[in-house]
Order: sequence, then structure tokens, then C-alpha cells
Amino acid sequence: MSEIESKIKHLSVELHRHNYNYYVLDSPIISDFDFDMMLKELTMLEKQYPELIDSNSPTQRVGGGLTKKFDTVKHRNRMYSLDNSYSFEELEDFENRINKVIEEKVEYVCELKYDGASISLTYEGGELVQALTRGDGFQGDDVTRNIRTIKSIPLLLNGDYPESFDIRGEIVFPNAEFEKLNQKRLINGEDPYANPRNLASGTLKMQDSVEVAKRPLECLLYFLVGEKLGISTQFDALNKARYMGFKVPEISEKFNSLQGVRSFIEKWDTKRHELEYETDGVVIKVNSLAQQEELGYTAKSPRWAIAYKFKAEQKTTLLKEITYQVGRTGAVTPVANLEPVHLAGTVVRRASLHNADQIEKLDVRVGDTVFVEKGGEIIPKIIGVDFDSRPADSIKTVYLKECPECGSTLERKEGEAQHYCHNSNSCPPQIKGKIEHFISRKAMDIDGLGAETIDLLYKAGLVSNIGELYDLSSKKSDLLSLERMAEKSVNNMLEGIENSKNIEFEKVLFALGIRYVGETVAKKLARSFKSIDSLIIASFDELVSVDEIGERIAESVINFFLEEDNIKLIDKLKDNNIKFVSEETEISTDNLHLEGKVFVVSGVFDVYSRNELKKEIEKFGGKVTSSISKKTDFLVAGEKMGPSKLEKANKLGVKIVSENDFVKMID
Ligand code: AMP
Ligand code: ZN
Repeated sequence: MSEIESKIKHLSVELHRHNYNYYVLDSPIISDFDFDMMLKELTMLEKQYPELIDSNSPTQRVGGGLTKKFDTVKHRNRMYSLDNSYSFEELEDFENRINKVIEEKVEYVCELKYDGASISLTYEGGELVQALTRGDGFQGDDVTRNIRTIKSIPLLLNGDYPESFDIRGEIVFPNAEFEKLNQKRLINGEDPYANPRNLASGTLKMQDSVEVAKRPLECLLYFLVGEKLGISTQFDALNKARYMGFKVPEISEKFNSLQGVRSFIEKWDTKRHELEYETDGVVIKVNSLAQQEELGYTAKSPRWAIAYKFKAEQKTTLLKEITYQVGRTGAVTPVANLEPVHLAGTVVRRASLHNADQIEKLDVRVGDTVFVEKGGEIIPKIIGVDFDSRPADSIKTVYLKECPECGSTLERKEGEAQHYCHNSNSCPPQIKGKIEHFISRKAMDIDGLGAETIDLLYKAGLVSNIGELYDLSSKKSDLLSLERMAEKSVNNMLEGIENSKNIEFEKVLFALGIRYVGETVAKKLARSFKSIDSLIIASFDELVSVDEIGERIAESVINFFLEEDNIKLIDKLKDNNIKFVSEETEISTDNLHLEGKVFVVSGVFDVYSRNELKKEIEKFGGKVTSSISKKTDFLVAGEKMGPSKLEKANKLGVKIVSENDFVKMID
């Protein structure tokens, strides 16, 4: 080994060790300054001798680059979930079930149930090779690149380790950091994140690992999976994982009866709020791995473990103000602004009041002392009012009449809970929200554009609707003059916009943000109607005849296309070559002998359902419309067809064919 090589090696080993001391053990033995100097030295050497860079060097945690789509990968060992319990009686049932299978004494290990995103790490030859999210338990997303940025996760293991194994744990966002980040967002006028758990899982799925590296994620490990692990109990497993260099929570205890388990639960039910991370329960595991094997698994979870869920904590606090938030669809959500209160480890300032009915039901008023509760994953909610402490001069809450953002009158349709601002094309949060939705990953998937940039573009008057995104390529100098917009990010953004022209129709349809048309509905509509043009002219009946398309969706689709602005928008997008036709239709060109023919289908049929008939017609190149006109070529007439249609067809000289005739036509 050359002198340089050994110097690099030495620095690497030392830096890994100091990382471990700092991030895993929480007890650094050198100053931050000295650490930075060593890191700098290593970086310099690697720059000079790039051929000597090891992929596991401490400098290589952020490999850079974007992950556009996370690969789905099968777990080599299934990730089970846990049965839940909410009372000590249920724990006794758990023990009884165990005692039916196991005759000897059973020892339990209690661990805290950390509330984050589960992860499975694979190590081969002491090296981290893969990190998968839980997904559905059988397969998860490959988030290795992002996981490598978490400093408490060892890239290389210490001492003696199994050749190949998986280790499971939880990715968490520390409470204090969560608070800090939310404070910052509030100051910037941004919405705070709901809870550390969502933030942790959201961060894991970020496309840019450089951004992930900036977030203080941690990984707490609790489970080893594999063969020849050299351990015989769960408690050993925890120790072994610690010894290999993983961050394993110190809070775990062995008990030889449920009595002990109970005391552990009672102790941590209150003390958990002093911890650095959110927890939502205790996990109780049979300690002996041999006994675990005997007990085995149900379809979903191990029989040798159970989660005891803590009850949601409640607090009272003052309701200072009710504000109203306008979302992308114009839906208005009332928000309770609270005197900040510590609840389940975080400071709660805001809680959702859902809608006008909820306000009415709770009779909640500004100045009230309210009960706030926080469950595992939900935004805190107000569950009641302490009427005894209501001030004498309290005034009943009157729901807002006008949109807080654009001033137009709010409306609430009968049978709906939510109020809406219908000024969808000039209400700022709706405009921005629509663009954000349009560019999102499951829609047009436009890279290089985020909420902040959209805000910037909107404020600068460069983009005020989706269509104008496609004008940006001719406004490069305007873009470059914006704050924080360097040449590279502008190019990146324009390239992303250009690439969106390849996005398939069903995603484009979803991206338009038609109310109630989510991802699945968009797929269904795209597959049935094949193009935006046939969707635009689709009648209510035609829409509801599609599988799983109900009246509410049909109405919303029709209303969307009735708006002239929306048709203009579609025309503009068409001009920019956005895909508005399903690929499928484009491909089936060999069978187009009904091409150009216009059909109306009416009545009930023997062989085909009406919908199948329509699909057949389209498959062979024909077009289906809902009402008979001069342009109609054929009326496919079934039984129970209305006499007026028949009359009209006769009058206009439209050919009337039966189901049998039609089959012959396409045969
Ligand atoms: P559930 O998501 O309710 O099925 O609960 C199972 C999840 O709890 C697992 O997938 C883990 O992500 C999480 N968990 C947190 N802490 C632990 C722990 N100490 N042992 C096992 N699972 C845990
Ligand atoms: Zn508005």
C-alpha cells in the first residue's frame, strides 16, 4: 500500500469511528473542529487521487444525483406487522395463547415502539448493500441512496459480524429537530409538518439525497434476521447489533412474567414524553428465538410478539382564533389556532376543526378552553369544549362567508360537509395548488420545480396557470433574473417541463386536478374513453356506466369541461403536444375498419353490455357519441330503446342496426 493509500485508509477508519462516537453513542471524543479538519483532509486527498476513493468512504454518504423512481424490490425475508393490544387483559390473552404452545417458562423482552417509518437494511460482508421500506411487507422501495446519508447507520460494520443478514428498524425524526423545522416554516409563512413520523417517511422518499442529508434523520434498530447469527435470544440480538455499530435504544428490559411487563408499560406511558423520539407503544417479544420459532406467524404477524398501544394523550388549552385554509380544490378547512401546548412530545399550535358541522357540533368558540388530543398519525384534533370555563361574553362561531384568499363568496352544496371557494382560476392558493398537483410525481412528474419555485414564479407573474408552464422556455432571461435561480436550476426546470410531454394520457388526466378524479379514477376514465375529446363530450349516462364511476364523479367531470377556461387550458396543452390520447388507441391501427364512423348505442343487449359495445366500436376505430345528430352513421339498437331515439334516427336517415348486425360488421 502506498503512503497515500494508507493515509486515506487511516483517515477513513478514524472518521467512521468518530461518526460512531458522535451519532450512535452520543459521546464524541474529539471536537467538531478536529473532525471537520480530518474530513477536509480526506476530501482533499480523494480529490487529488480519485482512483483511491472507496464507495464506503465517510465522504461518500451523499453520492449526489437524483432517484427519479424508487425501484420496488422483494424482501428476502417478509416484513410482518404487529398485532395491537390496548389493555392488560389483551396481554393476558396473548400469554395464554403462548402457553398453549410453549410448556417451559417464557421470558419477555419489552422495547419501546418508536413511531417512524420501518426500514430493512441488508449487509453483506459487513457492508451496507441495500435499504428497503416496508411497503406491503412482501416488497418495498429501494431507498438505499437516501439511507446512506443517515450518519448513525454504519456503512461498514465493526468486529465480527454475520456474513449476510438483514437488520430492521425505524427511521425517526427527533422531536426537537421537528419543532425547530416547524418554527422555521411558520416564520416563512409555510404550513408546519403534521408530525415527526410523516416527516420521516416523507424525507425517505425525497428524490434528492442531498436534501435528505440535510435532514437530521436517525435510525433505531431492533431486529436481526438471517441465518448463522450466533444468537439465541432477542436480548442477545439487541446487544449483538449494538456491538456491530448500530444505534439500538438503551431502553429495553427482560422480564420473566407479565407483572414486569406491566410495570414497564406503566413507567413508560408517562416517561415517554421526555424522550427524544415519538413512541406510540411498547413491543413485547418472546425472548427465546427457539420459542419464537415454535410459535411462528399468523398471516400477518408473529405470534411471539405484540404491541401495546399507549392511549392518546389529552390536554386542555385556549382557542385563540379560528382561521380558514383554502386548498387546491378550493375546499376550505377551518383551523383552530391554539395557545401552544405540549402534547405527546411536541408543541401543538394548530388543530383541524374539519368543517362547519364539526364546529356546530362541538359548539366551539374563540376564547374557549378546549380539549386537544393527538393520536399516532393524525393531526391533533379538538374533541370537546370545557363549557365551565367559557367566558360570559363568548360569541357563537359564525362560519366564514367569503374566501380569505380572494374574497369570493363561499358555497356549500347540499349533502356536503365542506365549504368551497369556486373562484378556482384566480384564487391564489388554488392556482398554486393546481400547479403543484400538476407537477407532482404521480402526475406530470416534473423535476426541478417545487412548491417554493412555483410560489416564486407566481409572484413574479410568470406563471398563473398550468398552461403557462409551457411558455417558460421562451422566458429564460426572466427566469434567470429571479432570486435563487441559477442557470443550472433553470435548465433543470425547463428540461423537466419538456420531458412532461412524454407523460401518458391517464397521468395527464389525473394531473388536470378535476375534483374527485384521483389516480385510479383517471386511469379508469382514460381506459374507457381513450382520449380527452371523447371524455369532453361524454354524457352523464356514459360516465356512470363506467365501472366504479359514480354520480358524484360524473357530475364533477361534466362541470369541469363546461368551464370555458378549462377547455382553453386543454387546447393550450394540446398545442404544446401534451398527450391527450391513450397509447393503446394509437397502436390498434390494424383493425380500423370502422374508422370515422359515428355510433350511438341505445337500449339493452344480449351479448354485450352497453359499455362493452362501446369499447368494441372504439377498438375498431369508430366513435361513440351520446345523442343522435346528422353526423351519426349508425344507431345500434337494443331492446327497450326509447321511441324518440328511433324516431329521430329515422328522420335523419341514420342506419339502424341490431346487436347481431353489429357483430357481423366487426367480424
Ligand atoms: P404496525 O405498523 O402497527 O403493524 O406496527 C409494526 C411496526 O412497529 C413495525 O413495522 C415497526 O416499524 C414498528 N416498531 C417500532 N418499534 C419497534 C420495536 N421495538 N420492535 C418491533 N417493531 C417496532
Ligand atoms: Zn378563493
